[in-house]
Amino acid sequence: MYNIAIIGGDGIGQEVMSACEYLLDKIDIEFSFQYGEAGFDCYNKNGTTLPEKTIKIANKSDAVLFGASTSTPGEPSPIINLRKALNVYANIRPIKSYKGANCLRNDIDFVIVRENTEGLYSQVEYHDENKVIAERHITRSASERISKAAFNLCIKREESKVTCVHKSNVLKKTDGVFKESFYKVAEQYPQIKTEDYYVDAMAMYLITQPQNFDVIVSSNLFGDILSDESAGLIGGLGLAPSGNIGDHNGLFEPVHGSAPDIAGKHIANPCSMILSAAMMLDYLGEWEISNNIKDAVEKVIADCKIKTPDLGGNSCTMDVTKAISKELI
Ligand code: ATP
Repeated sequence: MYNIAIIGGDGIGQEVMSACEYLLDKIDIEFSFQYGEAGFDCYNKNGTTLPEKTIKIANKSDAVLFGASTSTPGEPSPIINLRKALNVYANIRPIKSYKGANCLRNDIDFVIVRENTEGLYSQVEYHDENKVIAERHITRSASERISKAAFNLCIKREESKVTCVHKSNVLKKTDGVFKESFYKVAEQYPQIKTEDYYVDAMAMYLITQPQNFDVIVSSNLFGDILSDESAGLIGGLGLAPSGNIGDHNGLFEPVHGSAPDIAGKHIANPCSMILSAAMMLDYLGEWEISNNIKDAVEKVIADCKIKTPDLGGNSCTMDVTKAISKELI
């Protein structure tokens, strides 16, 4: 039995999490779910976006499922702080073309490995009368650790190349260290090809030649922006799952946010949350059921009959979830 922390959060986070739980209830694995609160609604209730109790539940779990959180003015981001609290330093964001979705090309299949614990997401900002400063923290240890995660993932996916993305021509010191660390780690993986691009050029290459990438590694902010851009290549955020992996825990969440524009309408695409749960099962060693879920999602999208509005259909969240569940049986 697996002990799973469930944190639905805000907006569509709660809706896609309910869908995900419905699906997990149907598979032949026993889970014990422990529920935690986080986000804007949690702040209004408890005066904090991330209660200690939630961190404890997450820390004790075998893995965490997180929905989404809405930003709370003046308060730190609960998901950034939860990733830090669990030290889940590698944010793994697979991007893959699905037949039946509105993809730019049908041969896209790469993964973004984003450093999760530092960079511009340090949330250290201050000001004097005239100047506002945001600190960008880059350490050799975290840069080497994330590069290692990227090379190991390249081996696991049986692919041949890791691409490092940075802006070391302008951010000479911080991204200088990030790039240097990448090439230092690369020496331990001589069988894997390497390349590096400035983030602005990479933003263009993702549009003009996305089929040429296998594993892309970058710092926190660049990795975040490039993964939303990449989701656009394959039909939107409804199809973009992610896992945050550390040495002792894993936290799995869709790339999307709480989508206030569609929250409460029950039309959120549950696929990114369900695919995140499949990543969790893969992390837990349940490879067969993980692959079955991925195949079931693929079949439902390819079938084109039952789709949420973001993919051009008019079905609701639970219609899609039930269709995926039917494919599993
Ligand atoms: P937040 O402030 O919580 O990040 P946001 O609206 O800025 O919210 P997202 O939640 O990522 O950012 O949403 C961006 C856009 O993508 C919105 O138009 C939203 O409706 C759409 N979107 C995101 N996730 C989904 C989903 N699962 N299904 C359908 N549309 C989605």
